[in-house]
Amino acid sequence: MDEEEFVLNIDLHTHTNLSDGVLPPEELVKKAHKAAIKYLGIADHDTTQGLEISIDLAEKLDIELFPAIEISCKDDIHVLGYFSESMKNWNHPVLNEFLNKLQEQRRIRNSKILEKLRKLNFDIIMEDVEKHANGTVGKPHFAMALVEKGYAASIEEAMDKYLKRGRFAYVERESYVEPADVVDRLASIGAVPMIAHPGFYKNVVDDYERFFANLKERGLKGVEAFYTKATLEQSQYFAQLAEKLGLIVTGGSDFHGYPEQRLGKLYVPKRSVEDLNRFIREEEIKAEKQNYKNIRN
Ligand SMILES: [Zn+2]
Ligand SMILES: [Zn+2]
Repeated sequence: MDEEEFVLNIDLHTHTNLSDGVLPPEELVKKAHKAAIKYLGIADHDTTQGLEISIDLAEKLDIELFPAIEISCKDDIHVLGYFSESMKNWNHPVLNEFLNKLQEQRRIRNSKILEKLRKLNFDIIMEDVEKHANGTVGKPHFAMALVEKGYAASIEEAMDKYLKRGRFAYVERESYVEPADVVDRLASIGAVPMIAHPGFYKNVVDDYERFFANLKERGLKGVEAFYTKATLEQSQYFAQLAEKLGLIVTGGSDFHGYPEQRLGKLYVPKRSVEDLNRFIREEEIKAEKQNYKNIRN
């Protein structure tokens, strides 16, 4: 294997305030620019609303933007999908219909979280939460409301004390999509599916090789082996496994705008951008051929 080159100017996984990040897309892109990021992925949870505005600004700042999405599946496994800027497949009706369904599940879950917080005698209503969100409402917006109302000193504290898995106000989603179905669906619209932060699933995945191999059959293209919370050993382990299975490797900080995850601080293999672009380009060529066929028929 060639000596792998690592760089700090690639970050293929960040969030804006259209899901559970803190910064609006424009500010995120500007912040990435300041942090000398050249290749930026924006992958909000279950929404693509922030992508077009981000692309426009990124272009002005000479950042190559990777429009993406992150979809939460069963057992809190997260699947990333990278879109093509020329195909604009984040607007695909199949995807939108699917996202609407996910949003509905989120709404149900959010009202249950609110109910639980009220059981703790917190004086809080849904408007207190929603006003912090611009699109998808999620746990960070509950955390912000708790901070604002004086029930927690910081977002992190609100998460730790009440909202994270195992705490009183944590609520599982009713029905979860299988990661394989999400991979399938993303692949079907020409998006490039990747598994996000794989080390997070060690309690639910007993055989990572089989897990990745099965998903590859459904269209998985790679693994985000490099991420903020991974140890070097973990990243190497996932990178080796990916290589063995013919999957690509990417990296991203999962930056949400809070201080503990920093842009431009994560080493990511330089070739991840080339590899990802190769797959995106393949999808574009497939779509072009399909269009050509459609025109001819
Ligand atoms: Zn995630
Ligand atoms: Zn994320």
